[in-house]
Amino acid sequence: LIVLSGVNKHFGQLHVLRDIDLTIGRGEVVVVIGPSGSGKSTLCRAINRLEPVESGTITIDGQPLPSEGKELAKLRADVGMVFQSFNLFAHKTVLQNVALAPVKVRGHSRAEADRRARELLDRVGLLAHADKYPAQMSGGQQQRVAIARALAMDPKALLFDEPTSALDPEMINEVLEVMQQLARDGMTMVVVTHEMGFARSAANRVVFMADGLIVEDRVPEEFFTAPRSERAKDFLSKIL
Ligand code: ATP
Ligand code: MG
Repeated sequence: LIVLSGVNKHFGQLHVLRDIDLTIGRGEVVVVIGPSGSGKSTLCRAINRLEPVESGTITIDGQPLPSEGKELAKLRADVGMVFQSFNLFAHKTVLQNVALAPVKVRGHSRAEADRRARELLDRVGLLAHADKYPAQMSGGQQQRVAIARALAMDPKALLFDEPTSALDPEMINEVLEVMQQLARDGMTMVVVTHEMGFARSAANRVVFMADGLIVEDRVPEEFFTAPRSERAKDFLSKIL
């Protein structure tokens, strides 16, 4: 579904993505981990072209990423992204936050978008909060709204960049549970996270990055029990 081949990216002198080759199949859940500054966010952002890359190719369903206009908006609907900060529209209600883009980008009718938004809010356990504003909700609830909003576009894949890092501990699980359910439902997901429990239970593969390189790309069981590289051993000894 998503194929990166020989992808390179610099920020000034800093080589943040080095010859990245990565294939993400339909329905796969790939967890990306690695030290701060290793290029995880840049990798995610490259996949929906929030960051253009210098060389190499990125394709979705065999199509190269579009660079502008309607095609780019469609790409970002097809490959949704959920950030650490929830980025909800502050003066729109929860329902409006979820229903807005399907009308604008997908051309759905208001009624159809509202119906679908309610269905998705129900799925993330927030139907009762549809008419609230983001500021009236907890961080965990806001993040679940952000996930519902991404789902409203009927994406082919979802990218998550540290979706629980800004949350108080007691709210992390409610978000991870929604993500676990998505994984079970067959959603293709790339998830940057420090939640190793999620990686173990939901991921098909763990990609370990360091200094802009993919150092290991393995099934979680193998990665966690027998990391091959010194970098990964060192990283795991610090976080586990
Ligand atoms: P973290 O775990 O801290 O989120 P990360 O693995 O997501 O780190 P990136 O955000 O991808 O790392 O950043 C990789 C490197 O590129 C870092 O050294 C960062 O400082 C640098 N960088 C990221 N974005 C920019 C930018 N817009 N301009 C310049 N340098 C940047
Ligand atoms: Mg990051």
